[in-house]
Amino acid sequence: MDIRNCKMCGRIFKYNNVPYCHSCVLEREETFVKVRDYIWDHPEANVSEVAEETEVDEKIILEFLREGRLELKEESIGLPCERCGRPIRTGRYCSECSRELEVELKKGMSTSPEHYKRKTGPEQMYIADRMKKKKY
Ligand SMILES: [Zn+2]
Ligand SMILES: [Zn+2]
Repeated sequence: MDIRNCKMCGRIFKYNNVPYCHSCVLEREETFVKVRDYIWDHPEANVSEVAEETEVDEKIILEFLREGRLELKEESIGLPCERCGRPIRTGRYCSECSRELEVELKKGMSTSPEHYKRKTGPEQMYIADRMKKKKY
């Protein structure tokens, strides 16, 4: 089991590929829909305009963009490629950098560091089992 701190509220939760706890995920979904609808209606708006109109933190809008869930109509300097700094519309890298990174990724390894694991479950059951057996 992977236990982490929620990126939004800091509470401890069971990690399941999303860095937020359940209630923050729900809250975030609502925010996402609001932002997405606004961008649909106002495709010309830039990140700070969207933030202002939807009253959503610019950082959160950028996260949605980085996750590739939202896409701007035009490349935005508010959303620079994380590698070369060129304005992009969605995701983390410009098309050129993502192509290069893909090549690099295939060459190297990418193992995420394991967060601490709790010593409960099978191991404790095993000890309990052994103690039971001793009695016989
Ligand atoms: Zn949370
Ligand atoms: Zn780039």
